[in-house]
Amino acid sequence: MLPFKLIYSDAYYLPIGSHVFPAEKYRRVHDRLLSTGVADASDFLAPHPASDQDILLVHKPDYVQKLKTGTLSAREEMEMEIPYSRELVETFWLAAGGSILAARRALADGIGINIGGGFHHAFPDHGEGFCMIHDVAVAIRRLQRDDKIRNAMTVDCDVHQGNGTAAIFAGTRTASALLPSAGPSTLDTSDRPSLRNGALPGKMRGVHAGEVFTISLHQHNNYPLWKPPSSIDVDLPDEIGDDDYLAWLDNALSSGLRQFEPELICYIAGADPYREDQLGGLSLTIDGLKRRDELVFRVARARGIPVMVTYAGGYAQNVEDTVTIHSNTVAAAKEVFAAANR
Ligand SMILES: [Zn+2]
Repeated sequence: MLPFKLIYSDAYYLPIGSHVFPAEKYRRVHDRLLSTGVADASDFLAPHPASDQDILLVHKPDYVQKLKTGTLSAREEMEMEIPYSRELVETFWLAAGGSILAARRALADGIGINIGGGFHHAFPDHGEGFCMIHDVAVAIRRLQRDDKIRNAMTVDCDVHQGNGTAAIFAGTRTASALLPSAGPSTLDTSDRPSLRNGALPGKMRGVHAGEVFTISLHQHNNYPLWKPPSSIDVDLPDEIGDDDYLAWLDNALSSGLRQFEPELICYIAGADPYREDQLGGLSLTIDGLKRRDELVFRVARARGIPVMVTYAGGYAQNVEDTVTIHSNTVAAAKEVFAAANR
């Protein structure tokens, strides 16, 4: 039995027909975790859908109304890039409920993993990039409303920038003076990644009630074209490999945690930095992605910061690879958190 819970429902399946997004990946990860013995049936908890009140903590009433009544414009539906249906709305409300539960379990157990969610391209007033509802933001706002946490940090390692997250949580103060002036010494190329810090005034290391510090590591030359500023954006060049990626992640985590003391880390563990991803242009290996997960978990565990995990994207040419990468996230958590408890 795992020392933490996995949040999962068969109803996480996205009813979107034939699509580059592998809607069945959640069930396949669930099945893989059981068949390989990484988890057993007692490790899974079923989520309840988020309430409309929960969704409205992040999303605009007009947008929620359109979703619930099926009155999105053709343009709005096109921008979402997944076909609207009433069933799809229910799926996204359930994913948000799953992320709320994962966040609650993280506070109880040190880590909670939603075998779904991570819809980081959803904005308060519209959906885009396969994302209708920002489940991670809903979970943060619900825990804040319940006085379970005051602030949080998002660590987004999907290959695509977390534009919805950045827009929703714009305004968190950062201390840009604390940023390192240069990146890790392992990077010595002319197309050096750039680490951008949202240069907003504010005091260091304070606990600012309601604030959310956003970190996004992503491929610069990829969707979204317009990248609203996160607290820290790491714009990575095409084809970056395991070691350079991990050095930049380590750098961004260190920098963020020097500036901000979160009560919860929300890790968005996209599988699409993988070198064989159809929608990504980075060159991480399956092993490198597992090391990425371990790095985030080790940092959180060492500092005693609870971490909730969501899955976001993953479009490997062979869907089995996406399933392996997502399953490895649970295996990495097991290694880090089981070891810590011994
Ligand atoms: Zn993605």
